[in-house]
Amino acid sequence: MSIADWPSAIAHVDCDAFYASCEAARHPKLRGRPICVLSNHNAMVIAKSYDARALGIRTGTPVWEARRMAPHAAFLTPDFRYYGQISQQMFSILRRYSPVVEVYSIDEGFIDFNGIRQLWKKTYRELADEIRHAVWHELGITVSVGVSVSRTLAKMASEHHKPNGVTVVPVQAIATFLAELGVGEIPGIGRSRAALLCRKDIRTALQFARADERLLQRLIGRHGQMLRHELNGRAILTLECEPPLPKSMAKTASMGRISEKRRVIAAYLGYHALRLVADLVAKQLLVSRLYLFLTLESFECRGLEVGLDLPTNSLKRINGAVHHALGRLFIEGERYRGCGVVATQLQREAHAQPDLFGLMREDLRQQQLMQAVNAINRRFGEQAISTAQVRTVKGCSVGPRFRYPLLLAS
Ligand SMILES: [Mg+2]
Repeated sequence: MSIADWPSAIAHVDCDAFYASCEAARHPKLRGRPICVLSNHNAMVIAKSYDARALGIRTGTPVWEARRMAPHAAFLTPDFRYYGQISQQMFSILRRYSPVVEVYSIDEGFIDFNGIRQLWKKTYRELADEIRHAVWHELGITVSVGVSVSRTLAKMASEHHKPNGVTVVPVQAIATFLAELGVGEIPGIGRSRAALLCRKDIRTALQFARADERLLQRLIGRHGQMLRHELNGRAILTLECEPPLPKSMAKTASMGRISEKRRVIAAYLGYHALRLVADLVAKQLLVSRLYLFLTLESFECRGLEVGLDLPTNSLKRINGAVHHALGRLFIEGERYRGCGVVATQLQREAHAQPDLFGLMREDLRQQQLMQAVNAINRRFGEQAISTAQVRTVKGCSVGPRFRYPLLLAS
């Protein structure tokens, strides 16, 4: 293969159905059964295994509906500390292959593959397969790997043979690869942009790559031009291995309906808090202030800032603060259309100062205790050791057989 085929090389590694796979890895008895991971208060499904998806369960499906669709499925409370540990172990496997690795999210990352063929005396496909096998043998979860010449192409390639697949796209294969994909499969092109592009007869990713630059600029701005370069094999986006500390991190969405029920708003806020914690754990960040807001039917916003006792990424603490703030913001009888949680004061976990009252040490001790309990249970079976905090999902068909100590949202 010539240099012209690989002006640069980037791999994208993406875990398949990550939260559900983590649960299957620590509860081997669940293998072969659909798995749904629920939001706090068990309101809706936030992650599902491939067989649960095949039964029609989606992220956001209310739990009662999911139970009707798959009565034999396992419904589990999420455990972000544990997912974070698996994520960190996965990234340390990736760093064996190249020192330049970007943590993109809790379950996906980019690897700078430049020069590693010579180093390992292997092809990109062999290296991608080796990574896939290493993650499976050491962690019991599957990943899909895409290798190409730009970040965007690598990400699209990893999607191509999911789950547990490898797709390699050198320069000469780009056109064939893109011709098969719809414009909506380009990362960053959502449904409304895809509809806009379709109206201009840009339907496939290849048509996007060949479209007039000014037209793309007009339709979707500078981002469109950048994507066009990336799809044509010109790497514009580089890897960010030590990204600058973000000023804030927001998780927010319209609820898609108007509601005056506190329980509904609490469920959405709980979901946003979960996503925020997943991001914090993956990026090894702690937050010490949160901003919570509710959007009223009139689009007017009402918000409240809350300080946390200490910098944290504990789901229990963040959830507690969010629900306390909701109690102060929510007014009976008012109608709401959206809500959100914003982390406003962030710091790196590695730079955290131990606090005077030992609260952080307490969190850390809990974390270490849980790691130890997990390790013992992995070795001697699921109920070898347990804590008083043990709780199972209410009404869960799994029953006490799968009791497991979890760091739970209160
Ligand atoms: Mg994934």
